[in-house]
Amino acid sequence: MEKLWSLYEDILNKYGLVITDDIKIQFKEKLWGAAYEYHPQLVVWSNGKNDLLLDSIKTKELPFDLFLFTLMRFGNYHEQFIYARQVTAHRIVESFHSFLILLKEEKYSSLGGLLRMFLESIAMFEKALRKTQFNISKIEKSLSRAINQRGNSDTIDLGRNHLLEAQNHFTEFENDLNKIVTETYVDWKQYSLNGDLQEYQVKEGFFDPSPQMGYSETIIKMETKLKPHKGESWGMLYTFLCDFTHPSVGSRISGLDFNRSKIHKNGDLWTREMYFNSVSVENELLSSVTKDLVYFSYDLLKLYLDINKQFEGLYKRVKNSSQLLVRNTLFYKNKQNSKTYTMLKKRVNPYNKCICFGDSRFKFCCGNEENW
Ligand SMILES: [Zn+2]
Repeated sequence: MEKLWSLYEDILNKYGLVITDDIKIQFKEKLWGAAYEYHPQLVVWSNGKNDLLLDSIKTKELPFDLFLFTLMRFGNYHEQFIYARQVTAHRIVESFHSFLILLKEEKYSSLGGLLRMFLESIAMFEKALRKTQFNISKIEKSLSRAINQRGNSDTIDLGRNHLLEAQNHFTEFENDLNKIVTETYVDWKQYSLNGDLQEYQVKEGFFDPSPQMGYSETIIKMETKLKPHKGESWGMLYTFLCDFTHPSVGSRISGLDFNRSKIHKNGDLWTREMYFNSVSVENELLSSVTKDLVYFSYDLLKLYLDINKQFEGLYKRVKNSSQLLVRNTLFYKNKQNSKTYTMLKKRVNPYNKCICFGDSRFKFCCGNEENW
């Protein structure tokens, strides 16, 4: 990270853009930290990885184990939420890395594409937060209704219904989050070949976007394989830049003449020598374009930090709600069958992390009946 960052700082300095230490620390903590946060076994998505959790429940009495498994899924929601941020941060860091390399190489069309990648990831994250905000309010409402009915034996069934409602909302939340994190799939390979953006279709079974997306490979193709066809390849880049970066970048780059530009091959590396129409001072133009792109990248990183701030507050709410859900489910289950507490203590090691995935050990958290 330090290496990446000093490269970026050099570039920013060149254009008179100063980064304060405060911003630097924030990036390090919020972006790099989020991208490489480590919580392997806690991440349980609904696409088959639940086996991990099932395997970890070692006992023969299946009905109760299934109950426990379901319960642990609810307790796991805030971890999934963290994972959604991790995926986003990872995409941004990866794009950022490529961005710096391309900036040094002065590959402008790829830079435009990459900034779009930044923006897509950030927009996806923001959308996930907005949706979560909505979901979590519904969950909180149902949960508080369920809790209000707890003491009264006449209305205990009503409380159980509210609890079921909350559980359903949690499942909705999980599905929405899953969908948002995966839905901005764009087939960049196809895009680089024919300029068809495919309207952000969800690819069936598509999961973590970074490795599958193969956009670094695509970016190389954008620079080299695109035939300098009259206006065609240029139109694609122009749309990128006009829609998603500073308008001035688009209009400046529109002076580029692909027909006269030349592609050179040095071993495996392809480079394009740029030519500009009706512009006498080429270097000045290039410098302006670069400057705009650099400024824009900085704005985007700051945008991520702003949005990430929303995440922190929401995370606490998601975490509290999922813990409450686990404890209330235990409470109602125990009302139904008083053996629940005994069964639970038989299944879970008291010194293991709690089944609600909270910070305490089981013995002091949901392993203590008083907390239900
Ligand atoms: Zn607990």
